[in-house]
Amino acid sequence: MTREARFVTVDHAWSGGWSGRSLVRVTDDIDLLGPPRAVHAGLPHLPGTLLAPFTDSHVHLGLIDPTALASGGIARVDDLGWDPDEASLWPEHGRLDQRWPEVRVAGGLLCPPGGYPSRSEWAPDTAAVVVSNPAGARREVERMHDLGASFVKISLNSDAGPVFTDVTLRTIVDAATDRLLVPVAHVQGAGQARRALDAGVARLAHTPFSERLDDDLVERLAARTSWISTLDIHGHGRGGAVHDVAVANLARFRAAGGHVLYGTDLGNGDLPVGVNARELRALQRAGLDLEQLLHALTAGAELGGTGETGRAPSRATWIATPPPTSDPSAVASDWLATATVITPDTLLEKTT
Ligand SMILES: [Zn+2]
Repeated sequence: MTREARFVTVDHAWSGGWSGRSLVRVTDDIDLLGPPRAVHAGLPHLPGTLLAPFTDSHVHLGLIDPTALASGGIARVDDLGWDPDEASLWPEHGRLDQRWPEVRVAGGLLCPPGGYPSRSEWAPDTAAVVVSNPAGARREVERMHDLGASFVKISLNSDAGPVFTDVTLRTIVDAATDRLLVPVAHVQGAGQARRALDAGVARLAHTPFSERLDDDLVERLAARTSWISTLDIHGHGRGGAVHDVAVANLARFRAAGGHVLYGTDLGNGDLPVGVNARELRALQRAGLDLEQLLHALTAGAELGGTGETGRAPSRATWIATPPPTSDPSAVASDWLATATVITPDTLLEKTT
């Protein structure tokens, strides 16, 4: 800590749960301390609602302007695939440059020869990391680890080309898990969600959208995987058959107790850079209420706590107005989409 502690009060706060008027300590981090006492009455005051940092758990920073995320309320991002050497620079950039979000990366997208996305237009050629056999799997997972990755992105897309054999897929997952990297799979094509589950994949980069999963499979996925929502990439607010399949799968996954993470696949098509109200409305159609939306948006991060990154966040999310009360579900997504990111400096500037 290099900064002298300052104390402020705030009207409302959400960090794993709601609190009313609260005392906040601002150093290099933003800590929620609890209800203020009488002695704190004259402190500078932050109006509105202070929230744990919002995370987009599926972005491609190489396709957007990272500095535009803060004004849209996104404080942390997980980049799920780009040129590994370029992506390896982003976590440090995010730590040093307060205009950026905090960043975790996967590095490249592991795929078999000729598999997705090696022939896709959206990513640079170097983003596709070709793995031909188990030895190659161990080597490339080790390379992503050494580049500072937090995830291993696994392509399992039978609609767009060949997919890994079971033994290579299992080797990638085991090598990632051994290195404490989260194995995240892009699952597309009939039967691929079941294969990801059977191989031990921990996270799906998209809500499965290729087929209506049967109830037994949804229950087993709910027990062992988390899903990144990405509902709005299907139809961009106009809905459609694929969108409906994804929403129906997510509704049953959620009802079975599955862990849902907010994510947009930002960079894929025309999506707002920041909190996407359409994504939130689709999550509401899948049955998530305001509290559950906040859990999906904060992805385990807390104010003054240690989130998944293992350190206290130096950024928080802020909404200028109080939370909706009369009919929270009707306005929750619009309210959340007015969020912006604050840092210790900008928080103090907003106090009165
Ligand atoms: Zn993606």
